[in-house]
Amino acid sequence: MNIAEFQRNMKDAYLEKDAKRGVMGTYAWLVEEVGELSRALRKGDDVALSEEFADVLAWLVSLANLCGIDVEQAMTKYRDGCPRCRQVPCTCSEKP
Ligand SMILES: [Zn+2]
Repeated sequence: MNIAEFQRNMKDAYLEKDAKRGVMGTYAWLVEEVGELSRALRKGDDVALSEEFADVLAWLVSLANLCGIDVEQAMTKYRDGCPRCRQVPCTCSEKP
C-alpha cells in the first residue's frame, strides 16, 4: 500500500467520524498519539513502536483528509532532497 492508497483507506474508514469530530478535535487525537509514540520510544518496545508509528500516521492522514490535503502531492516538497539547501544529504546547519 502506498501513501495515496493509505490516505484513501483512511478516508473511506474514518472521514465521516473525523468530520463530526472536526479539525481541532482530530488534531487533539493526533497529539495524543504522538504522546503515545513518545512513551513507546522511551520503553524501546519494538512492537508497540511499530503500532504507534501506524497510529500517528493514520491520524496525520485523517487530519489531512479533513483539511483537503493530498499527502502524496504534499510530499513532493521533499522529492529533490532538503527543500532548504537542495542537497542530499542535507547540509543545513541545525540552527534555524
Ligand atoms: Zn538542508
